[in-house]
Amino acid sequence: MEERKFYSKLCVARSLKSSVGKRCLNEFVPSGWDKLSYNLATILVKDKVVVAVNLRVLSNRCEISIAKDGVWLEEDHKYVNKIKETLANISKDAPMTFKQTHSREDMIDLSSTILNYCSKIIRNRSDKLRKSITENKDENYIKSFLEFVKTRINVDDIYNDEKIVSISTVCCEWDHALNLCLVSQILYVKQNTHLFSHMDLQLLDPVVMIQPILPWNDIVKEFVDQVEYGYLKEACLKDSMIKRNLKHIYGGINVELNCESSNEIYLHPILNILTSVMNHEEKRIFIAVSKRTCFLCDLYIRFVRDKGYNIIFSGSQKFYKKLYNRWKLPDRYKEEFMSFAQLELDQIIGNEIKYELIYDSSDDEALSMEYDEKEFERFKNMPFIRL
Ligand SMILES: [Zn+2]
Repeated sequence: MEERKFYSKLCVARSLKSSVGKRCLNEFVPSGWDKLSYNLATILVKDKVVVAVNLRVLSNRCEISIAKDGVWLEEDHKYVNKIKETLANISKDAPMTFKQTHSREDMIDLSSTILNYCSKIIRNRSDKLRKSITENKDENYIKSFLEFVKTRINVDDIYNDEKIVSISTVCCEWDHALNLCLVSQILYVKQNTHLFSHMDLQLLDPVVMIQPILPWNDIVKEFVDQVEYGYLKEACLKDSMIKRNLKHIYGGINVELNCESSNEIYLHPILNILTSVMNHEEKRIFIAVSKRTCFLCDLYIRFVRDKGYNIIFSGSQKFYKKLYNRWKLPDRYKEEFMSFAQLELDQIIGNEIKYELIYDSSDDEALSMEYDEKEFERFKNMPFIRL
């Protein structure tokens, strides 16, 4: 199938729908070595970038691959090298207690570097924590959390921005979900000292390309006849969400929908990592991602699992999966996956078009006869649910 057609359909699907409801997988809570990848993905997030991490433990060393949805800057390289060097230094002096590790100068220095690099995210989490305490102060879990805080610091420090390091450390002790300082990994460093002194750390380059896109009108006309097309376009331009999407994707809602255009597409970090480690002999591949996967990444992973790969990824498995029009196909299994995913895109476009026609033309006798109420109910109950 022509790639241009696939990407053009993706743009049309995205213009009509932001998220797709899809059966969820079980929530995966990382432990052991997976937790290190997970923590690295957490502390590598700056602003709103998405980061994906894979770690391979070999007999005498470990390999870490990291991808993000943007270019690696000088400060990112410095930051990653500092994490790598500190882990290597700690492993040279291991074993040591948790307390000893945390009172080391290099660990204190690393903690403050992490807090600085992730300051926006930490502020955001800290605000959420304060809000949750205020809103749920009568709940038992908040009461016991505050009791625990009292044993470590003054409870008022939670509301003091200057004490953010202390509260982060307390949260870390209380619940590793708020772990921002690699604490749980220290235990592994103790047991596997040699691995961190021989660490290969690779920052993967982003994979970006410019993709030509067919006009919105041309794709939509494949799904409707001339009469329906008129109704559909009118309905879409009346829908504020679709109108906004069209402007965003095609640059306008007039002549722009009739013109060929281009789109800068990029390989999402999880697939950048996945395609770079698929050649390894390990049967199990774990990828930690800092944000939940999108609809097409999820679909690709399911597709590759059916090929025999045991791929596990972190992140919440929410029912709704976002559609991104700048999503890029991986080279691996490209043709086969493109045909498979196109069926999904066709279904999304088809359902949304029918929804728009029914919703907008309920007064029109001819169309309401064609798409009667029964059919409307049927579409409403299909797995692709309109948000
Ligand atoms: Zn994705």
